[in-house]
Amino acid sequence: MSSPHKYTLAGVMGWPVDHSRSPAIHNHWIAHHGLRGAYVLLPVHPTKLEQALRALPTLGFSGCNLTIPHKVMAIAMVDKIEPLAQRIGAVNTIVVEADGSLTGRNTDGFGYIQSLLDVQPQWRADAGPVTVVGAGGAARAIIVSLIERGANDIRLTNRSGSKANDMAQEFGAPVQAIAWEDRHEALADIALLVNTTNQGMHGQPALDLNLERLPVQALVSDVIYVPLETPLLSAAKARGNTTVNGLGMLLNQARPAFEAWFGVLPDVTPELLAKVRATL
Ligand code: NAP
Repeated sequence: MSSPHKYTLAGVMGWPVDHSRSPAIHNHWIAHHGLRGAYVLLPVHPTKLEQALRALPTLGFSGCNLTIPHKVMAIAMVDKIEPLAQRIGAVNTIVVEADGSLTGRNTDGFGYIQSLLDVQPQWRADAGPVTVVGAGGAARAIIVSLIERGANDIRLTNRSGSKANDMAQEFGAPVQAIAWEDRHEALADIALLVNTTNQGMHGQPALDLNLERLPVQALVSDVIYVPLETPLLSAAKARGNTTVNGLGMLLNQARPAFEAWFGVLPDVTPELLAKVRATL
């Protein structure tokens, strides 16, 4: 955490990393709160990740974010891992402690849950069954966070069925694996649908999912934010469902990390939203 006089440094390590919107988000908050510091891009090759992480205290960094492909590897490289990050199996935020040791956190799930609450403040994880499409890194963070919030019926479906089966076994009772070919039926009676695959992202085909069985009251979310409205979200909107795009998750996951480094919990304001939307 910084004092008002300290110049605080943070950044994002990835490979590649130039596409990251994180500098726009964090540098906006630094300026908005009148803090001294900077948030920079840190292109770090996977073979150099441990060296780069260990150099953070020496270079005067308060911490950093991790993005593709470092989130899982970093678990074995930090001194302490918060229990939530341990359960998720990935770290997206590193905090340099006062003694120079490194703590790994994961704020992706927080970002996702907050993005739902921003759109529907009365949203509850136990309001009804949830269908999660995809079983990669984003799905892990979202599923663990949904369970923490009380979700008790999660239907998980993934193109490679073995990954969904493994995850259901790992996380236990609230998670039930559904065969990929049965995914359309898995939308019956649900309160929340989330797409965690890359299908619908710019350059990718739309997610192949028939919404016929989806209740019109269900909230439909997509972790993708390029484009802001994926074909899944437009189809859901057209039939009357409330939708949540991936930008809220991206912006909200940054808030607790910023607080850990700069000592202020920042807000997602319309001004910040407009600034980041302009980069998409
Ligand atoms: P990942 O670990 O590589 O997982 C990718 C997922 O997509 C897997 O479940 C994979 O299924 C599925 N998939 C890929 N091609 C497919 C296809 N043709 N048909 C059906 N499913 C397919 O990736 P990730 O880190 O979880 O990221 C997933 C998405 O989330 C990306 O678009 C990423 O940009 C986005 N994301 C957004 C945020 C945010 O803040 N909004 C944060 C993290 C990630 P298989 O297992 O069968 O390959």
